Amino acid sequence: MPLHLIFRKLRAVGPVTIGTGLERQGKRAFIAACGADDCGWSSDYDTYPAAEIAARGHRCRVR
Ligand SMILES: [Zn+2]
Repeated sequence: MPLHLIFRKLRAVGPVTIGTGLERQGKRAFIAACGADDCGWSSDYDTYPAAEIAARGHRCRVR
């Protein structure tokens, strides 16, 4: 996870948390990360809608 310095939780979609943070270049990125213990899925996006769509489309293999 490269976004360890500034991370702000925006909302949760099921087990997936959507947050925003600044990358090293100062560019804003949106992260969708699954909170299920054995899943570990996460990905980052340039826009919030992209992250939310990914969160809604995540089919958690744990649940
Ligand atoms: Zn998951």
